[in-house]
Amino acid sequence: MSDLIYLDAAASTALAPEVFEAMAPVLTGAPGNPSSAHWAGDSSRAALDLGRQNVADLMDVGPASVVFTSGATEANNLAIRGLLSHDPARTELVTCTTEHASVLQTMLAMRAMGYVVHVIPVDTRGLIELDDLRRVLSDRTALVSIHAANNETGVMQDMASISDVVHETGSLLHSDASQLMAWGESSIANDCDLVTVSSHKMHGPQGVGALVASRAVRRELDPLLSGGGQEHGLRSGTANVAGIVGFGAAASLSAESGKDAALAVARLRDTLAVSLHDHISSLRENTPESIPRLPGVLNVALAEDSEELDAQAVLAQMPRLAASTGSACRTGAPEPSPVLLAMGLSTQRAMASVRLSLSRYNTIEDVDAAVTMIADAVQRVRQASRWPGTLNLEEVQSV
Ligand code: PMP
Repeated sequence: MSDLIYLDAAASTALAPEVFEAMAPVLTGAPGNPSSAHWAGDSSRAALDLGRQNVADLMDVGPASVVFTSGATEANNLAIRGLLSHDPARTELVTCTTEHASVLQTMLAMRAMGYVVHVIPVDTRGLIELDDLRRVLSDRTALVSIHAANNETGVMQDMASISDVVHETGSLLHSDASQLMAWGESSIANDCDLVTVSSHKMHGPQGVGALVASRAVRRELDPLLSGGGQEHGLRSGTANVAGIVGFGAAASLSAESGKDAALAVARLRDTLAVSLHDHISSLRENTPESIPRLPGVLNVALAEDSEELDAQAVLAQMPRLAASTGSACRTGAPEPSPVLLAMGLSTQRAMASVRLSLSRYNTIEDVDAAVTMIADAVQRVRQASRWPGTLNLEEVQSV
């Protein structure tokens, strides 16, 4: 197992040992339902409360602001679908072209239901322009949903400025901050009315996330599910207590050491970039170094625009390296990344691009080994694609 290299943290992160330790007693302990009025229920409820407090502490909000869900996908759906029934004068939605599918597809579903949905572009760096946002905002806008950090490129939007513009019109601002929260960031909930968080992007377990929203905003939300009325009536169903305890432990880890981890991981990412440039002369970065980016994400084109190089074929040459050509939700799809196309990259360059994403558990040895593997794989794919074009026809015929 030790020669397997994992550079796909943007798709899912390894469970932190601290998280596993926090979850183990819940998984093996009393089978209490947190809604039950007996000792086992009490113990489950205490575990749930602790998880909630830990997530709230990371986000710098009160515990009641945390609505647990099954993950970021559900939280994004709750924010967008849940908000629209209260103010009949506000029926328009705004988002941008590089959102995760759980936002973009939900927005498109709302459009199919008759709502007006504005999808604003990003520039070649992956950033939205505030003037584009101003142009579509009005007193009919119910919600603007702009992600804090992109899962394919690591580009971070300027949420403080976006917040100023959105709030001038009295609209609400939602941000999918799934990719941001491993790095000890805590100010996002000050800028936004609703924030999505996902446990498995920050070394917690899969299958749990949260929508963070103030009381005033929660009152305007309608639940997606009807049932027992858990989570302030916004998410019926027995809570995933062990998952939430793990999510809470992951949040504490991020609050304690996320910022230090970000510095170390950014250094590792920069080393990875320099070393890839040294080994693959055609390599180009898809995100400028000068803009705010997540520490762990490096999105690179392995070939020049003029060369047809299939990044999927390169990845297929390296079964021991886990990396991807884009969002995990699209992995296996032969199309180029819509995020890279939205930034104006050519189809050929997008097809030649890979996302390498690091976490606090990666080492310099991982980086060195990955660079060797990628450089070798690029060479093998180039050789294979030249076959049989490089052969002398006369030689072939004489065989
Ligand atoms: N939003 C972003 C930005 C993501 O990266 C992901 C995971 N790829 C999601 C939402 C979906 O997260 P979850 O798996 O928790 O539903």
